[in-house]
Amino acid sequence: MKLLENKVALITGASRGIGRGIATTFAKHGANVAFTYLSSPDKAAELENELKQFGVKAKGYKSDASDFKASEELIASILSDFGQLDVVVNNAGITRDNLLMRMTEDQFDEVIKTNLKSVFNITKNCQKQMLKQRSGSIINITSVVGDKGNAGQANYAASKAGIIGFTKSIALELGSRNIRCNAVAPGFIETEMTGALDPTVVKGWIDAIPLKRACTAEDVANLVLFLASDLSTYLTGQLIHINGGMYT
Ligand code: NAP
Repeated sequence: MKLLENKVALITGASRGIGRGIATTFAKHGANVAFTYLSSPDKAAELENELKQFGVKAKGYKSDASDFKASEELIASILSDFGQLDVVVNNAGITRDNLLMRMTEDQFDEVIKTNLKSVFNITKNCQKQMLKQRSGSIINITSVVGDKGNAGQANYAASKAGIIGFTKSIALELGSRNIRCNAVAPGFIETEMTGALDPTVVKGWIDAIPLKRACTAEDVANLVLFLASDLSTYLTGQLIHINGGMYT
């Protein structure tokens, strides 16, 4: 059964990692997919072709989610290309880890702007169309760290905690118009973002996970698919953890 037929979805930061997994899962389920990237044009072109193999419309847009004007132009281009917008996944994110003692102002600002302000930029610019359609599902990718905190990631944790508050507020504001907004908090996922970590640190984390494995992009994509689809029409304002039981 295809869950997203006749829907148009935007996924930010889909050239790699979790975003790419979500875009692929959505296309498999019949969605027409608009996605963004920032610095990986080759990977984006490759993904666009892969998605089209599922018989859906797909287009990658180079767009900086942290830039309000660029986000406004992005949504206008998507509406002109696709004609509607039903699902938005705010996924683009970065880390600039450091202990507070060493963290620079730039490292703090860059992470807040890319991870948190981007969610405002995209959501604000897509709400008009969703209000017009009287339906929509917005899914914001936060992190276990946004709920739990993490030493060495004060900037990242603050950005991800901000997303949780933003999500709950938007769910309250837009619920009466049938626009839903939920947050997904993955635990430890092996992607390029975590590939830079020391392997012994990674092993220590996996040993501490009750399900004894890292989460995959596909695990997250399946949860996001559920939230995007009409299987979850009574679900809004929620923070849903997906972490193999590592934080319960
Ligand atoms: P990733 O592999 O590093 O990929 C990040 C994606 O975001 C790339 O497609 C990148 O595009 C894009 N991006 C970065 N800055 C952008 C900007 N300003 N505008 C538009 N796109 C931008 O990351 P990931 O591990 O898949 O993480 C995806 C999301 O899940 C993030 O929000 C992250 O915080 C969250 N998360 C990750 C983990 C984990 O363990 N990996 C755990 C919990 C939550 P380019 O390649 O074109 O630059």
